[in-house]
Parts: sequence; C-alpha cells; structure tokens
Amino acid sequence: MKGYAMLRIGATGWIEKERPVCGPLDAIVRPLALSPCTSDVHTVWEGALGDRHNMILGHEGCGVVDEVGSLVKDFKKGDRVMVAAITPDWSSLEAQAGFCAHSGGMLAGWKFSNFKDGVFGEYFHVNDADGNLAHMPDKISPEEACMLSDMVPTGFHGVEQADVQFGDTVLVIGIGPVGLMAVAGANLHGAGRIICVGTRKVCREAAAAYGATDFIGYKEGSIDEQVLRLTDGKGVDKVIIAGGGVQTFEPAVKCLKAGGRIGNVNYLGSGDYITIPRVEWGCGMANKVISGGLMPGGRLRLEKLGSLIALGKLDVKKLITHRFQGFEHVEEALMLMKDKPADLIKPVVVL
Ligand code: NDP
Ligand code: ZN
Repeated sequence: MKGYAMLRIGATGWIEKERPVCGPLDAIVRPLALSPCTSDVHTVWEGALGDRHNMILGHEGCGVVDEVGSLVKDFKKGDRVMVAAITPDWSSLEAQAGFCAHSGGMLAGWKFSNFKDGVFGEYFHVNDADGNLAHMPDKISPEEACMLSDMVPTGFHGVEQADVQFGDTVLVIGIGPVGLMAVAGANLHGAGRIICVGTRKVCREAAAAYGATDFIGYKEGSIDEQVLRLTDGKGVDKVIIAGGGVQTFEPAVKCLKAGGRIGNVNYLGSGDYITIPRVEWGCGMANKVISGGLMPGGRLRLEKLGSLIALGKLDVKKLITHRFQGFEHVEEALMLMKDKPADLIKPVVVL
C-alpha cells in the first residue's frame, strides 16, 4: 500500500509498505479523512523524537473498518469510526494508574507516527480496537471527526491541566488550532476573561468566536508585561500554553497569581531547559503549579467530546480553513502545516 512518510529527519516522501497485520484485539481502518498536525512538523523537521526511517506520518483521521481481530466485540467491517491520536494499551499498569497516554512508558500511548506507522496510509492499524475506536455519529462529518482525533482533546486537556474554574481569568498562549480549542474548552468550563496570545488574524477571529475577550501579541513586547498591564497588575488565575517554545514558561510564571496553575500541551520541539523565574515563583513558595500533559485517548473521551459537536455545543468547522479532495493531497496539506501561511488554521484532506 501507499503511504506518506518521514524518510529521515528533515525529509518526507511517498513510500510503498505492506498492509498492516491485524492482531486479535486490533482493527485495520481505511481512512475517510485525514489532517496533518504541527506535531508532525516537530517530528520531521526538528527531529524532536529522534530519527525515524520510512515511518508513515499522521495521527489525525477517521475511516471505515476494513478488518477486525477475532476478539474485537463492538466493531465490524464497514463501520465508520473515529480514532484518537493517542491509542493506549488499556490493560497496562499506567492506564490503570490513570495515565493512559503513558501506557507502556512515557509518551508510549502515542503510537501513530511515533512508534509505528501513522494514519497517512491507504490503511492504518489500530491497537486495542474496542478501547480506541468510537462509532462515528451521523451528525458528525468525517472532517469534523478529524478534529476530534487531536485538536479538541488536546486543547481541552490544556483546560484540564490548568484546572479552569468558573470566572477564572485565563491566559491562552498560542491560538493555533490547539490553542483555539483551549479557548473553546475554557469558555465551556465557565472562564471569565480569556486573554489570548497570537498574531494571525484568522486565528484571532476564530478565538473571539470561541470566547476570547482580549488579545496580545508576543511580537509586541513581553507577554507578562502586557498581561499585567491589562489586569491592573493582578495577573491571571490560569495559563494554558499551546504555542511558542521553552521560553514561554518564564512569562507564564511571571503573570500567574499565587496559587495559579499552568497547563502545558505544547510539544516542545527544541531547547534543553525550561527556565522558572525564582522571584516570581515566590522563591519556591508561590504554590504556582506547572503541569503538562499528552492528551488522553480512548473511546469514552471520543464519544463524550463528540457529543458536544453532535449537540451543536462546539463548532469545530471554524478550525478548517483549507480543504482538499484526494489522498494525494496529504503532502500539500502537511507542507501547509509546516509553512503556516497567514490564512491557515487547519487543513483537512477528504478521501
Ligand atoms: P500552531 O503553530 O498552529 O499555533 C501556534 C500558536 O503559537 C500560534 O498562535 C502562534 O502565533 C503562537 N506562537 C508562536 N510563537 C510564539 C511565541 N514565541 N510566543 C507565544 N506564542 C507563540 O500550532 P498548533 O495549534 O497546531 O499546535 C500547538 C502545539 O500543540 C504544537 O506544539 C503541537 O505540536 C502541540 N500538540 C500537542 C499535543 C498534546 O497531546 N500535548 C497534541 C497535538 C499538538 P501566530 O499567530 O503568530 O502564528
Ligand atoms: Zn497532533
């Protein structure tokens, strides 16, 4: 079968591979829609995970079941399914401990385009199918289902990591598709003021529609000074980080109130250390928590988050700025994600 792959660090291309083999608990899925992720860019062009050779890329997509293993109970050939970017081994000790994203080791619940071929193939393999697939409701289109693979659950995980409460003033650093879903999630969690950092006009317009109240630009001076000015020196209750690099933690700590929380979902593709400013961290005693997480996967979460779309409570179509028809456009869509033109939020390829 054909797939679009990372050939080595810095190089991608089309390759031929064997169709994946279906184990007793697994499923083989034929994609209906696919979307590239900024994480694919970190993986290929920053070599953030180390070298990978001829590994099919992609972890955002939905499709039709082509084959199931003998022990799969709830899915059969022909079912339209959604699948998350993170596909844990549900019987692992880490999943039992509540950290399914790290089943089998740190970040090891992230299998597609990390430890095994991703979804940008004519077929892809899903482990633990009963736990990792969800039936696609009629009210959710394939392109919307793609946003449920990663953008919605990751942005919402930022909200969970930051523990957003009713009336909180929340700073969202980065309003690409992940940050935009953090804005939408914070709004659904009852946040008060939502201050956003990002410059692209198209993203600012979408953020405003999702509940953002204020905007600042990281190119127009330091983030913390701008936030402190906007809040009369008080700072914010919570920070969600969904953009920038290792340097974003310093301003985040500086403009966070004592007792506040930072929830990071940004994939730090480069740099060795994160700097925590000593004085603004209360000389170590400010009760400012810094948390970071890989989004949890799984069927239950897909079904619950999907219900928000099906009920009209969350509109993910605002994220999709570029649409392609045909598998061969996967390459073009990925290059858009790499180049980030001013009018881009997220591209989707419908097959
Ligand atoms: P985008 O590149 O589309 O958006 C990044 C945002 O950050 C933009 O708003 C950009 O602003 C802003 N930004 C860029 N540089 C800075 C800076 N120096 N300081 C502050 N803000 C800055 O990314 P995505 O939304 O697609 O993804 C966000 C991150 O989430 C990525 O690192 C991705 O890999 C990661 N991710 C993590 C997952 C997880 O499970 N934890 C899963 C999926 C993705 P501008 O408007 O100027 O472009
Ligand atoms: Zn992703």
